Parts: sequence; C-alpha cells; structure tokens
Amino acid sequence: MFDMDWSPDEKTETMLWHMAIQNAIEYSGKAAPGSVIGRLMSVRQDLRQHGKILSPIIAEKVAQANSLASEKGLEYLRGILTSEAPELLEERKKQVKREGLPELKNAQKGNVVLRFAPNPNGPLSFGHARGITINGEYAKEYDGELILRFDDTDTTVKPPLLEAYDAIEKEAEWLLGYKPHRIVIASDRMAEYYRHVDLMLDGEFGYVCQCSADDFREFRVGKTNCPCRNNNVESNKELWAKMLDGTFQPGDCVVRVKTDMTLKNPALRDWPALRIQDTITNPHPRKEIASKYRVWPLLDFQSAVEDFLQGVTHIIRGKDLMDSTRKQTLLYQHFGWKYPETMYWGRVKVHEWGGFSTSQMRKDIESGKFTGWSDPRLPTIAGLSNTGIQAAALRNFWKELGVTQKDISVPLATLYSHNIKIIDDNAPRISFVRNPVELMLVGVDDKEINVPSHPNNQHLGVRKINIESKTIFVEQEDLQYNQLRLKEFGDFEINDNMATFVAKERTDKRKIVHWTSKDCCSDAKLVCVLDGELTSIEGKIEANGFTNGTPVQLERIGYGIISNSNIITFTHD
Ligand SMILES: [Zn+2]
Repeated sequence: MFDMDWSPDEKTETMLWHMAIQNAIEYSGKAAPGSVIGRLMSVRQDLRQHGKILSPIIAEKVAQANSLASEKGLEYLRGILTSEAPELLEERKKQVKREGLPELKNAQKGNVVLRFAPNPNGPLSFGHARGITINGEYAKEYDGELILRFDDTDTTVKPPLLEAYDAIEKEAEWLLGYKPHRIVIASDRMAEYYRHVDLMLDGEFGYVCQCSADDFREFRVGKTNCPCRNNNVESNKELWAKMLDGTFQPGDCVVRVKTDMTLKNPALRDWPALRIQDTITNPHPRKEIASKYRVWPLLDFQSAVEDFLQGVTHIIRGKDLMDSTRKQTLLYQHFGWKYPETMYWGRVKVHEWGGFSTSQMRKDIESGKFTGWSDPRLPTIAGLSNTGIQAAALRNFWKELGVTQKDISVPLATLYSHNIKIIDDNAPRISFVRNPVELMLVGVDDKEINVPSHPNNQHLGVRKINIESKTIFVEQEDLQYNQLRLKEFGDFEINDNMATFVAKERTDKRKIVHWTSKDCCSDAKLVCVLDGELTSIEGKIEANGFTNGTPVQLERIGYGIISNSNIITFTHD
C-alpha cells in the first residue's frame, strides 16, 4: 500500500477505459468507480497493490464514460466495445445469467422453514457467514422462517463458550439485516430428546449398547450385530434408566439407532445417538444447565429430532455432511417422518487465510496471541466488521458463490471488491497524512478551501477546509518533488518548506498529493494489518464529525473505518 511511484502502462490504461465503458453500459450511463475497481481487482490481482494510484485514474475514466453516455447514448458506448473489446460485452451477459440462488426444491412460498445451527464454541467466523446468509436469503425470498439454533450439546470435545450465545445472536442479526424468526437452544430441549429415546426403545429401533468402542468397531467392520442389539424393550428401558441416574459412567454405554449392520456405508451401521458426558467435572457453561444432565444427544440425533420438531423444510449444508443426511434419513424412516429437502455446498477457501478453526482461535486468544475475537487479523465476523467489511458485502460474496458442490478457492480481493461496491458511492473522502511535514502557503489569499466530499456523489456535500494560518501538512515522501499539485487546491512550487501558489487549474502533469490544514486536523493513528502483524501508523487526520463505524476513503491510501475520534482502521485498498 505504499508504492507511490507506479503508474499503469498503456495496455492497462486502455483496459481501464473499456471497463469504465462496460460499467456505464451496465448501469445505464451511471458507472460507479467503486464497481469498476471491484471488477478490476477481481480480474487483475496484480493491480491490487496499486489501488490508491488507480482510484483517481478510474474515477476520471468513469466520469468520461458517463459523460460520453449522456452525450452520445449507450449504443455509442456499445459500439466502442464491439469494435475494441467485444469480450467485455459477452462477459456481462454471462454474469447476468448466473445471478441469484438456485430455486429450492418443493418449496411453497410462505411455507418454508430453514435453520442455521452453529455450535456456540466461539463467535461466528467467515465460514459461518455462508450458512447464515444463504439460509437467510432463502427465508426472505420464500417468505419463510429462519431458525437460529445453538447446537450446544457437546461439553467435552468442542464445549460451548458462554459469551458466544449473545455474540452469535447479534452477529446473525447484523449479517442478515433482520432478527432470526426463532431462536432455539438445544440444551434447553433435553426433555424432548429424552422423550424421543423412549419412543425409539418402545418402537424397538433403538437400544442401549454396552460394548466398548473397540469391540463395537469390530462388529461394525465385520458387519455383525453386537449382542446388545437383541435386548428386549424392558432391559433397554432398565439400562436407559441407569444411564440417566448415574449408575453408568462415560464410555460405559451409548444409545444406538438400529439401522442395518450390513449397510454398505460403515458410518450408517447402528450409529450412536446419545452418550454420557461427565458434567460434574466439566459442567455445561450455561448456569441453568451446568451439571443437570449426564446423558447428551450426539449432533446427528439432536439435529434430526429438532429439525422435525421445528418443522424444518429445507436443509442446506456442506457436502461433508452427506453421511449425516443418510443417518438422519434412516432415523426419520423409523419415526415415520418425512426428511427435509437437502442441498449441499462444497468448501470455500480464501487464499490469504490458511486453516483458522474456531478451537484454534479460541486457544490463541486465551494465550494472548490475538487481542480478542474482533482482532483485525482474524477471519471472524467480529474481526471483519471491525475492519470495515459490511454485512451486505458478505451477503453478496456468498450469494455470488451460490450453492454448488464444487470446492472453490478465492482471493480475499473478491470479498474486498464486494465491499467496495457497497461502500464506495457513499464513503466520504478524507485526508490522513502519514509522516506529516509542515508547509507554509505563499501567495494564497483564500481563508477556506471547498473540497467535494466525494468525486461523484454530490449528496455528501463539501468539506470546508480552513487555511487561515496558511500552514498545511503533506507527507514527507512527497517532498522529494519540487512541484506538486495539492489535491482540489492548486499547483504549487515547493521550496524550503514553503509552498508557493502557481495556479488553481492543472498546468502540467505534476504529482497530485493529498494534504491537510493545520487549522483543522488532529493527531490520529491508522491501524492496519501488514504481513499478518498489527501495525499502527501515526499521522494527521482531517477534522471530521463522523461517528464510529463510518466507512471512509482515505485519500491515496484506501478505505478505512472510523474506529473512534483518533483511530482509523484500514479496510483495504
Ligand atoms: Zn453392543
């Protein structure tokens, strides 16, 4: 983000011009620089590092394309692309066709129930955003309901984290743009799960198995029934009572769903539904639950029963969970229930983020490696929103990837380009001057300079910059040039910390730099992640009345978000 001397070659310039035209055609003569930048960065990742240099160039080309559109019409623009870059016309056609999520199978409007069911072992991460946004979009599209369900019945391997419940509820609402229609906490629903165990034992499609894990593995591999499979109803009920009353210890026995030990897929053979967990030593983190239960449902059983009880009609899940669907379908058949329609998606990997698991992040936060779940280095929802990524950008990102079983690998730039599309048209421009050096203005009579807050959006008004003291700040690096154009101000000659006015209009190709006035700026810090490290850059920020959380564009640096009156967090180029 700091190379100021790069400039685009002729071929790139031409491409920028064509993309501006393409955008103007698409938006009926109202091309937006943010949208062009977004598309450019997703097709030319090599240009990402030059975003701040490209931004003003693109803004200029977009303005040219828009005025050409209003003077000569869209057909004229189409004509240019037809002869110079026909592939850009084709590309748009293809993308338009692909938009939107595939239809839900057997869905009736007003009669659709979906769920997003995280384990609250930490707040939501980037990957969770897919589950919540896709299910949430479908619920919206079909006038259906979205359930937020906390699958919190594993107290040993991935134990729930108390603060995650509230965090997830808030994050889900932020991501969706609405409150989930229902909230269900599995650990509040234990009586229901137990009731279904009774039904299973009575119906003789469930049994208490006292085999050791090793022994059962042998039965499973050998496709033979374990001896417990022949328990009659009475003995199963006796054993179940002993699971509940504390006679049995963890590992002594489990409740299994009777399927068929000769099924081709070993995972489906008499799969375990409930087990004993030691909640005396390891109480559930919810105080009202704590050590109240000893027998806990495993995820496949709990999720299956709850989906039925809540009337879930459609399940969208990772293709790695196909076995869950198969197991649960067998259980549904026993109960005589109809299994929800299911759709699957493949994995999505973001190049820049290796393997961040919730459990690992939790460990690293506890050890102090990260400042918390909202650390800007973490791919958590809290971390992303903290750096200025908008909920709508995350929604659009996941919607565009859609529901496909293909594994996809994407660069972070794709998310950034969605974010730019959301924020660019309304992000006010302000100056942040790094390594500030004072310059005295000479030959300037004005007491105030009016600078538009946004190059295209007049609704954002102007910044009135007081220059009564005739002292401004520019970045030290910019002083290597003797001739500078102060952005939106004029051309100047620079000599011994004096800037002598030359002309208001642009007289030549001298370097355009940003600046701020000593009369209306304050000390501030720009927090950013550089090579995986949190870095803080000191500088002068132009006075502004923006509230915390306002996305802004820092002149020549990139997008940021106001974190508080003197801290800005860098979002992306
Ligand atoms: Zn057994």
